[in-house]
Amino acid sequence: MPPQKPDYKSPWKRFAVNISMVILLFISALFTGIYLNHQKSLEQELKSRAQALFSSLVVTRKWNALHGGVFVEKTPGMESNPYLDNPDIVAGNGKTYTKKNPALMTREISEIADKEGVFQFHITSLKPLNPNNAPDSFEQQALLRFAQGETESISKEESGGATYYRYMAPLFVEKPCLACHAAQGYQLGEVRGGISVRFNIENMERALVLNRLLLGLLFTVTLASFLAIVRRLVVALQKKLAVAEALIREMAITDDLTKLKNRRFLLTRFEEELDRATRYRHPLSCIFFDIDRFKQVNDTYGHEAGDTVLKTISATALEQCRQTDILGRYGGEEFLMILPETDQEQACSLAERLRQSIANRTSIADQDQIRVTATFGVACYSPETSTTRPDLSDFIKQADTAMLEAKTAGRNRVGIAP
Ligand code: GH3
Ligand code: MG
Ligand code: MG
Repeated sequence: MPPQKPDYKSPWKRFAVNISMVILLFISALFTGIYLNHQKSLEQELKSRAQALFSSLVVTRKWNALHGGVFVEKTPGMESNPYLDNPDIVAGNGKTYTKKNPALMTREISEIADKEGVFQFHITSLKPLNPNNAPDSFEQQALLRFAQGETESISKEESGGATYYRYMAPLFVEKPCLACHAAQGYQLGEVRGGISVRFNIENMERALVLNRLLLGLLFTVTLASFLAIVRRLVVALQKKLAVAEALIREMAITDDLTKLKNRRFLLTRFEEELDRATRYRHPLSCIFFDIDRFKQVNDTYGHEAGDTVLKTISATALEQCRQTDILGRYGGEEFLMILPETDQEQACSLAERLRQSIANRTSIADQDQIRVTATFGVACYSPETSTTRPDLSDFIKQADTAMLEAKTAGRNRVGIAP
């Protein structure tokens, strides 16, 4: 069985999904915060505007009340206040003047403001003397709430296709009011009605919708950018990990000094090749070879020179290999070559070629030119003639034994297992 490749796809997918969820939550919270904050400032601004209008009216009324109402010249068409006992006076110059008390003044200013289209306001109470001052449903609700102690009432209403902001606050009986209203049983400080302010907020509503759209767009762009960054990051990390993993896998099967395959890899592949050869009834051979008197090399030239020789021999053997052959360092100064689809004759001729190449090759270590020889053992498996598949260690042992016999016979030669 070849080593299983770990499946990195799903952990990466989970990682990407989790981090995307965190980003989605973070950006959603951020944009909701921005939106709510903007909404709150707009509401605050509307309220401040309404409060300012209300206050300016109250101050104007107070000025009027402080004077006990003011007289203006009665021009043709001007009606006298029917709710006052003696609204008109004739002055020494013969002109008639009529009294504008706070209530009348408020109504008249309201009519002007309404005509100008700036804003509207309405003075009202639960028991108005003038039926024109009767409260509408918003005002009625507000007045009832003021009786419970509330000090402001706010609402929005749709009318004629436009949106209006409505604000109402109570009017308290103050000292100047009593000059005229004491007879009606007014008490200082009590709520005697209120003034409601109403203005068009269509532009602001439109700005709000635009702002919502803009925020939505910004949210989408930000989210998409972040997700794209996460994707790039994940892909880059995935690639880096794949490279690192490939390197580790390669290191796990490679001999550090010679860069040939190591013993672990050789044994795994050898088992596979044995199985394949048995299944398809193809020949399989192996060559086991060992450098002759290598200890002497180390002793004479030093260990580092010995390493150089090992590298030279490895390169020489690699040159002789076919693409399908598998060459590795079995251990120390011993090497193993697995030769699929190769019978005894072919294996022996390869071993002989390799023996000559090694014997003719010179390793250069520092100033030294070192020549070594190697002894070979060849073992072959032919499913056509064998009845059973050989055990891997037995098969290697056959080649090793043939090599050892060749050593005894004088080294630098090829031994063949029977
Ligand atoms: P023989 O012809 O019988 O094989 O003799 P030999 O000297 O080659 O065999 P022996 O087993 O006596 O010595 C093998 C030597 O190989 C001993 C060990 O120090 C050396 N050797 C093993 N691995 C390495 C290595 O990685 N680098 C170096 N420089 N020497 C190594
Ligand atoms: Mg040896
Ligand atoms: Mg040796």
